[in-house]
Amino acid sequence: MDRVATCLNHPRREAIGVCVKCRGQMCGECVTRVDGINYCVTCLARLADAEKPSGAGASIVVPRVLAPAFAMAWLFLLTLLAWGLVEVVFPGG
Ligand SMILES: [Zn+2]
Ligand SMILES: [Zn+2]
Repeated sequence: MDRVATCLNHPRREAIGVCVKCRGQMCGECVTRVDGINYCVTCLARLADAEKPSGAGASIVVPRVLAPAFAMAWLFLLTLLAWGLVEVVFPGG
């Protein structure tokens, strides 16, 4: 009794492709073909994240978590500036 390979993400779906990166079996919805090579969603996201192939030196990864923090800091600064201006233009207000 041989079992049909099923998708890692969808246990009830038949796997039609194997990710070359993590060797995970994926269904048609989860697998993406890039240049004839199968990638799962996770590995494709990683691939898109680091477009350049790793290997040539250490790549500097800028944490995306910091982007909103920077935005918040800027907003905070601008708000402070705006309040400062209000204080200057309308003293005692
Ligand atoms: Zn994968
Ligand atoms: Zn799937």
